[in-house]
Amino acid sequence: MRVAQLGSGTPEIAVVAGIHGDEPCGVRAIERLLDDRPAVERPVKLVVANEEALERQVRYVDEDLNRAFPGDPDATTHEGRLADRLVEELDGCLAFSMHSTQSHAEPFAIVNGVSEIATDICPQLPVSAVVETSTFSQGRLFSSIDTVEVECGMQGTETAAENADRLTRAFLTAVGALPGDTVSRELPIFRLTDVIPKTEADTYEVFVENFTEVDSGSPFAAADGETQVADEPFYPVLMSPNGYRDVFGYAAEKVDVLPTSTAAD
Ligand SMILES: [Zn+2]
Repeated sequence: MRVAQLGSGTPEIAVVAGIHGDEPCGVRAIERLLDDRPAVERPVKLVVANEEALERQVRYVDEDLNRAFPGDPDATTHEGRLADRLVEELDGCLAFSMHSTQSHAEPFAIVNGVSEIATDICPQLPVSAVVETSTFSQGRLFSSIDTVEVECGMQGTETAAENADRLTRAFLTAVGALPGDTVSRELPIFRLTDVIPKTEADTYEVFVENFTEVDSGSPFAAADGETQVADEPFYPVLMSPNGYRDVFGYAAEKVDVLPTSTAAD
């Protein structure tokens, strides 16, 4: 784990990258901040989490770090121990944690509940939607630390790295660490309702677009050519053929629209 800081004093905000080692976009955003060293109005902690996985360009070494929180100093896995150290490092901070996906190019935010923080910050980020994990937050960073997660785009792309940079600066502006104003927008909120399992197969296909409603009776995915059909309408989220080992992604319901906040400061 690599920890750096912008500004002096004890940070109450943190920017976190590299929770997953095969998602380099956030690391690029942090390196750029360290190169530019912008003058900050509040101290900011910068954390590159899973350096070992980043070096190997794999999602994780022993287990998924974003399912390993709160972790344990005596855990038998690298990520179990790292989760514990990360919680200690981020104690007292609001964290902004960057990810990238194999499922959706446009940035969106992920929160574990529509808290005051989420309602205040998410509309000020250049994202197109907010996903609320509700009951599917076990082991994720935001189960231990107040966190806004963002999906910056497709894994390994230049666009995801550029988005990570824009998102980080918008976040730092929204929390008053960087000067200036943000642009507020209305955001749809999607609440996860189910995981969409996939059976063991050689080839996987997904026929639907994330965040676009799938009608009851529509085929949405296939494993080795065997088609799965929607029992009821749902919105697919984080759904891709090969993004996760044992699930296609999640089913969500559209619950609300976050209104733009009246003041951008
Ligand atoms: Zn990730």
